Amino acid sequence: MSKFRKGVLHGDEVTALLDYANEKNFAIPAVNVVGTNTVNACLETARDINSPIIIQFSNGGSTFFAGKGLDNEGQKAAILGGVSGAMHVHNMAEAYGVSVILHTDHCAKKLLPWVSGLIDASERHYEKNKMPLYSSHMLDLSEEPIEENLEISTDYFKRMNALGISIEVELGVTGGEEDGVDNTDIDNSKLYTQPDEVAYAYEKLSEVSDRFTVAAAFGNVHGVYKPGNVELTPIILKNSQDHIIKKYGLSGNNPIKFVFHGGSGSSTAEIREAIDYGVVKMNIDTDLQWAFWTGVRDYYEPHVGYMQSQIGNPEGDDIPNKKKYDPRKWLREGEQSFKKRLVKAFEDLNCMNTAV
Ligand SMILES: [Zn+2]
Repeated sequence: MSKFRKGVLHGDEVTALLDYANEKNFAIPAVNVVGTNTVNACLETARDINSPIIIQFSNGGSTFFAGKGLDNEGQKAAILGGVSGAMHVHNMAEAYGVSVILHTDHCAKKLLPWVSGLIDASERHYEKNKMPLYSSHMLDLSEEPIEENLEISTDYFKRMNALGISIEVELGVTGGEEDGVDNTDIDNSKLYTQPDEVAYAYEKLSEVSDRFTVAAAFGNVHGVYKPGNVELTPIILKNSQDHIIKKYGLSGNNPIKFVFHGGSGSSTAEIREAIDYGVVKMNIDTDLQWAFWTGVRDYYEPHVGYMQSQIGNPEGDDIPNKKKYDPRKWLREGEQSFKKRLVKAFEDLNCMNTAV
């Protein structure tokens, strides 16, 4: 009997799992998905290595799940795609026997109607099933002044908390570019969160409940760039923890559960240091996009002569190629390569066999 229920977790189950990660010094990979191929590959990987996983939809990922051909006026497609994706995860998580935290990624101020629509859907889901659709949502109001960031976040958090949905907030700015938000030219000081800002967020969010995590900026950058522009400084996380312990007279370790964005390209040593300082969730997107693609590429290259026409290949002019170009064939190759890279993420995060 595992410590955590199989299926999509909610309410105190989520907090318990993240606290457990903190206590056992591991972080859970939070994987951006865009369709059933990536969702299923996540579940298959987590099942095979016997660990929980965080599956997350970005705004763009939700929209893509609904199909690029659907009108997204008023975030309609993003909401529908987010609901449809969540239903798929709910159905499959139990079948695969995996504990899943189902989450949405960055939601800037202009995208709030998207998360509002998903909370509406969670309310409807809650009436029938006594659980929300999503385990947690991220609100990223880091572009706004911190007072406004926390004011809007706590308003949403109150509504979410009543349904058992956790919140992730962002303080400071993750550099780089992701999902259409470009922070490549941001002022460098914003790339490092101050301990006082974390304390302020802790104070405001704790008034609602303890079901929150904080994405802090410590020189992390979305995407993969040539190294050298910003320096990863996980010690910022420790300074924040120490500051909060002292300021509020807390006992114990790591009162704040941190989220590591923009971890692609980080060394295992840097990742482990961040985990020591309270990181319990690390987002992984760019490296898995690359892995999915290379799986398809590495399948195509040796089969190039079989992929130019429906009939006719190096073995003969009349031989059909259907078995080679069937999307199930090359999409599966993408999934296999994605899985392999995801296992490495679980290893880096000290998250192997943690569902015991
Ligand atoms: Zn991010």
